[in-house]
Amino acid sequence: MTEILRPIGGVDYPRTYQEFRAWFPDDTACVEYLGKLRWPAGFSCPRCGDGHSWRTGDGLWMCAGCGLKTSATAGTIFHRSHTPLSTWFAAVWFVTSQKNGVSAKGLEGALGFGSYETAWAWLHKLRRAMVRPDRELLGGVVELDQSFLGGKSAGKRGASSDKAPITIAVERDDSGQLGRVRLELADVPGGLDMIGFACEVITPGASIHTDGARMFARLTDKGYDHHAIAGYKADDLDTVMPGPHLVSSLLKRWTAGTLHYRISRQHLPYYLDEFTFRFNRRASKARGLLFYRLLQQSVDTDPHPLKELIGGG
Ligand SMILES: [Zn+2]
Repeated sequence: MTEILRPIGGVDYPRTYQEFRAWFPDDTACVEYLGKLRWPAGFSCPRCGDGHSWRTGDGLWMCAGCGLKTSATAGTIFHRSHTPLSTWFAAVWFVTSQKNGVSAKGLEGALGFGSYETAWAWLHKLRRAMVRPDRELLGGVVELDQSFLGGKSAGKRGASSDKAPITIAVERDDSGQLGRVRLELADVPGGLDMIGFACEVITPGASIHTDGARMFARLTDKGYDHHAIAGYKADDLDTVMPGPHLVSSLLKRWTAGTLHYRISRQHLPYYLDEFTFRFNRRASKARGLLFYRLLQQSVDTDPHPLKELIGGG
């Protein structure tokens, strides 16, 4: 998919709520917008790849090659939703225009949903569109560490069972400014899956800073420029590994402040995705750009039926 690399406010995305209302008065306007996001370089048939199509009266695209009728929402998270697209757009606007996001209860109230379950399911669908694993590799200098979410103390290794170990990888530049982050719920504290995660989310050849645990030596074999900081203790965290430490405190504050309830381990990975989406775009002053990005990623994300969401899938 060819993307617009620098979307422009007022041209590619609405800058204000007033513009949002003016651009999307009805479902037809939403369908047209999704069509452009889905096929930025023009229509491409999902079955035969033909680039020519006719528009049908009911908002569909009909392939000139094979005759397949397809919609802008087919195979995306909006697939077979019975709710008008304009309501989905309002939800996406609401979720992205609030700096810290919104709880299911908040979304239920704002959009006048009949049920908490609907609002909850929508938020989970949107979370699945927030991080695209294959497209956002970290680079430069990356600090890799683990922290715990849940439970009472914020200590490192040696957590009790109600605490979830979170692996944190975060970019840090020469001046100490943090860049992008990636997070993962680990199986066990200090486990080898930290290495697997690093290889998944960090560009080969990048510089990785870790504590002195012996297993991190493997990062050198994996082609990274590995720097071990020997012998630091939990007290040193702030100065020696400031990136993950800061991310960890922000994550704790966010889950406690915005979500207001305990997150089950089963759903935790998707909350981590939402935190990542927000953190990585925290410098963006244009909230409308987040709206644009989330919709763009939504038409690039498979549908997730409610049954699968409840099951964790
Ligand atoms: Zn076709």
